[in-house]
Amino acid sequence: MPTTVQDRSTRLSIPPVPVLSLAAFASQGGAGDAADLPSLLDGADVRLVSSGRIAIGLALGALGVGPGDIVLVPAYHSLSMIPPVLWHGASASFYRIHPDTTADLEDIGVRLAAGGVRALIVTHFFGIPQELSALRVLCERHGVGLIEDCAHCFFGERNGVTIGSTGDFAIGSSMKFFPIYEGGCLVSRRRSLDVTLRRGGPGFEAKAALSAFETSFAYGRLPGMRVALSLPLRLKSLLWNALKSRAGAGAPVPALAPASSDSAFEFDPYWLDKRSSIFSRFVLAHASRQRIVTLRRRHYLAMQSALDGVPGWRPLWPVLPDGACPWVFPLLAECTDAVVERLKEAGIPVVRFGATLWPGVDAAVCANSAALGRQLIGLPCHQDLSAGELAAMIAAVRAALQASTLQTA
Ligand SMILES: *Cc1c(COP(=O)(O)O)cnc(C)c1O
Repeated sequence: MPTTVQDRSTRLSIPPVPVLSLAAFASQGGAGDAADLPSLLDGADVRLVSSGRIAIGLALGALGVGPGDIVLVPAYHSLSMIPPVLWHGASASFYRIHPDTTADLEDIGVRLAAGGVRALIVTHFFGIPQELSALRVLCERHGVGLIEDCAHCFFGERNGVTIGSTGDFAIGSSMKFFPIYEGGCLVSRRRSLDVTLRRGGPGFEAKAALSAFETSFAYGRLPGMRVALSLPLRLKSLLWNALKSRAGAGAPVPALAPASSDSAFEFDPYWLDKRSSIFSRFVLAHASRQRIVTLRRRHYLAMQSALDGVPGWRPLWPVLPDGACPWVFPLLAECTDAVVERLKEAGIPVVRFGATLWPGVDAAVCANSAALGRQLIGLPCHQDLSAGELAAMIAAVRAALQASTLQTA
C-alpha cells in the first residue's frame, strides 16, 4: 500500500488511500440503489489476515500447490502476487489478457493443455467484476483450482453473481478499501476453510491501531483525537527507538507489522498464521460499506465526466458498470510519463499499476499487459477524498493532460 508518512507533523495534501475519520462509521446513500452491492465477505467462510498476498499463499496451500507445480498468473499483475507462488516451490506461468484486462481464454487453454498446472489466479482489475463462468468451466475440465483475486474488488457483482463466489477461493486486500494499516482476507463460498489463525501479539496490535491514527492525523483528519493520542504515539516512537538501539548496528529490528503495509512486495511467511489486528477487524465490522461503495462510485463518475472532452486520454472502460465499486479511476494517457511527472509536482498521488512487471514478462509475453503498464494512470477515487480534494485533483489532472498534449502538438 502506498502509505508513506515520513513525519506525522507534516500535513500532506491528498491521501492516496482511505484515511480514518468518524464519517467512516456513518451510513450514506439509500437502500436499494447501486450502493447496495454485496461484499466479498457476505455468505462466505472468511479468514481475516494481514494482507492479500498472505491470503494468496493460504489459498495456494489449500489447493495443494507444491514443488514443481505451475500456477497461472495474469501477465498484468501486482508484483506481490508472485512471491507466494514461489514460496510454495511452484513456478508462475503468465497468461495473456485482452486490452480491457479480461483474461485471454485461448491462451489459458493452451497453457492448461500443456499440463502441470495446479492453480489459476484471475484478477478483477480496478474493481470491475469480470465474467468468470467460462473460465470456471475450463478450470474444472482440467482439474485446476481457481483463485479469484479480489484485491481491487471488495464489493460487487456481475449478472447477479457476487465477486468471490466463482473461485474455489477468493482473496481480498482490505487495506485497499478500508482506513486500516494492515488487512487482507481469504474467503470461500465453495469450501470450508481449514485455516487456524493466531493473534499477532501486543506490539502488532498497538502498531496496527496507532499507525491508522497517525496516517489520519497526517492528512488533517480527526483533529480532536490527535491531542488525545499524542501520548500513546510518543510512547510508540520511544519504544520503537529503544528496540532499534537495543538491536544494535546490523542486528535485525523485530518487525511489529508486515512489510506488506509499507509498499513492499515481499511475502513473509511469518504472517501466514496471524490474524488481522483487533483494530482492523473492528473497522471492517463497523465501517459503513454503503458509504464506501456510494462515494467511490460518485468520485469515479465525477472524474470521468469532468475529464470528458479533455484531450490526451481515454478511460480504460467506457462505462462504470452498476455492479462495480472501483479501486481507482484508471485512465490511459497518450503521454503518461509527462502527465505523471506533472501530477507528482502538483502533489497528486497516482498508482501506476503494472508499470513494473515480473522479470521476463514483457511485450513478447503479452503486448496488452506491457501497453497497460506503460500507459495507465490510476487516480484515487476512495471514500475519504473531501470535495475540495476531489476538485483539486480534477483541476490538476486536466491541467497535466492539457499541458502534455500541447507539448507534443
Ligand atoms: C495489492 C494486490 C494484491 C496483494 O494485496 P496486499 O494486501 O497488498 O498483499 C494482490 N493482487 C493484486 C491485483 C493487487 O493489486
